[in-house]
This record gives sequence, structure tokens and C-alpha cells, in this order.
Amino acid sequence: MKFNLNNKIAIVTGGGSGIGKAISITLASQGAKVHIVDLKEELSKQTRLEIKAFGIEAIAHKCDVSNYENVKKIIDKIAIKGVPDILVNNAGIAHVGNIEVVSVQDLDKLYNVNIKGVYNCTKAILPFMKKKRDGIILNIASVAASIGIMDRFAYSMTKGAVLSMTYSIANDYINHGIRCNSISPGRVHTPFVDGFIKKNYPGQEGELFEKLSKTQPIGRMAKPQEVADLALFLCSDEAKFITGTDYPIDGGFIKLKV
Ligand code: NAD
Repeated sequence: MKFNLNNKIAIVTGGGSGIGKAISITLASQGAKVHIVDLKEELSKQTRLEIKAFGIEAIAHKCDVSNYENVKKIIDKIAIKGVPDILVNNAGIAHVGNIEVVSVQDLDKLYNVNIKGVYNCTKAILPFMKKKRDGIILNIASVAASIGIMDRFAYSMTKGAVLSMTYSIANDYINHGIRCNSISPGRVHTPFVDGFIKKNYPGQEGELFEKLSKTQPIGRMAKPQEVADLALFLCSDEAKFITGTDYPIDGGFIKLKV
């Protein structure tokens, strides 16, 4: 069977919702033991229940990825029982606005979750992966990392850093058997998108949803499962030759002009 993850241990941050939830369920369905890490415990438990419905065990953890102590405690606890083979740095938050609109507080918050969250989880797991001389780190960046999407100043800045961290980790750990890649989705229909539409465009939700769908030349948003299937490939042995690469999955957003 291709994309077999039997006997693999995976950690998925932000696994309680949207893309992270789809990735958690997909990795588990291929045999991985998945640790679902989320700030909201009720959400990570819900993902665990959905995985359990297939007769597969997963573990839910409450964790704030922006807090290094919190992250290290959980990763150490997981690694004592079995060193993780896969880390998916997916947890992230949105922000709408140009540089004049972004407050210092908002900028710090975005930095702490989207950038420091990736740093914290990666830093905590690397000593274990190095010792094992094996590991896969997959970061969820965004098309916003390489395209200046209008009114997404702080968010784009954080995703640019996720992309740079991907290249840096891939280079620094290539001789330790550790691969690091990223996925850059265009718009994906998740609570993240519904949430920022509701917050920033109250009363215009339907209109905005249509507008955002059409910004992908393919005419719609991605489904979380489509991103999860790419994540599965990159986390599998079939992708063993791939490191230091970013994969846009964007319905033609970056390259096509229609
Ligand atoms: P989502 O809001 O549906 O899910 C994000 C999850 O992360 C939530 O369960 C939330 O509780 C968790 N989370 C937030 N802050 C956290 C923290 N500090 N510690 C631990 N968990 C935390 O979002 P989504 O759309 O599934 O997005 C997932 C990732 O994909 C994000 O990094 C996002 O930037 C990226 N992304 C999303 C889109 C999109 O259009 N949805 C596009 C490109 C990239």
C-alpha cells in the first residue's frame, strides 16, 4: 500500500479544526498514531472522537504553541513513549489589514502564534529526531508568503517567516536525516475563513465568500481534505527525496492570470 504510515507517530498542531483536523484524520487513516495538539481542548477531543469512530486511537492535547514551556512539556511527554516521526506545524491565526491598521498588539499576537509557534514546536522536537536520525517537519505556510495579498500585512509577514524557516531547517538538518517542507494553500474553506469574514465584513458574508472564492482562478476555495492529501504525500516514505520545498495548492492563484 502506498502512503502507509503504520508505526509512525505524528504531531499535528491546530489539529482541532479545518486543515489540521483533516490532516490529523488523514494521517491516522493511513496508520499513524496522531497526537492532536490544540489551544482549544474541546476541539482536539472532537477530532480524536472522529478518528476513534474508524476504530483508530489518537491522543488529544491542550497546548498553546506560542508558549515554549507548554510545548516542550507536551513534546517531551510524547517522546518518552515514542519519538515522533512527523511534526505538522499547522496552528495559525488570521488577520486582516494593512500596516496602518495593524496594532502593535496584533502584530505581537500574530508573531507569537504563527512564527514562534513553529519555532517552539520545531525546537522542542529536533533533539529527538536528531537522535533517531529521522524525521519529517511539514509547515503550513500560505500563498500570502510569496504574494502581497491586499490587506494582509501582518499575516503575510508571518507566513513569509514560515517559508524562510522551512528552507533554513531543511538546510541545517539535511545531514541528520530530517526533511522539512511547507505547503502554501490558497483560500481553503475552513472556520478560519468563515471567522475572518464574519469579524471583518459583518453583513456582507455571502458577498465576500463569493469574492474570495473567485480570487482562485479555478473558481472556488480548496477543501481541507485536498490540503490533507498533499500533506499525507509529503509525510510519507514516497516523498523521501523531497526536502526544502514549498508546495502551493492554490487553484492557480500564484501562477495563472485569467
Ligand atoms: P482554523 O481556524 O480552522 O484552525 C486553526 C486551529 O489552530 C484551531 O483549532 C485553533 O484552535 C488552533 N490554534 C490557534 N491558535 C493556537 C495556539 N496558539 N496554539 C495551539 N493551537 C492554536 O484554521 P485553518 O484554516 O484550518 O488554518 C490552518 C493553517 O493553515 C493556519 O496556519 C493558516 O494560516 C493556514 N492557511 C489557511 C488558509 C485558509 O484559507 N483557511 C490558507 C492558507 C493557509
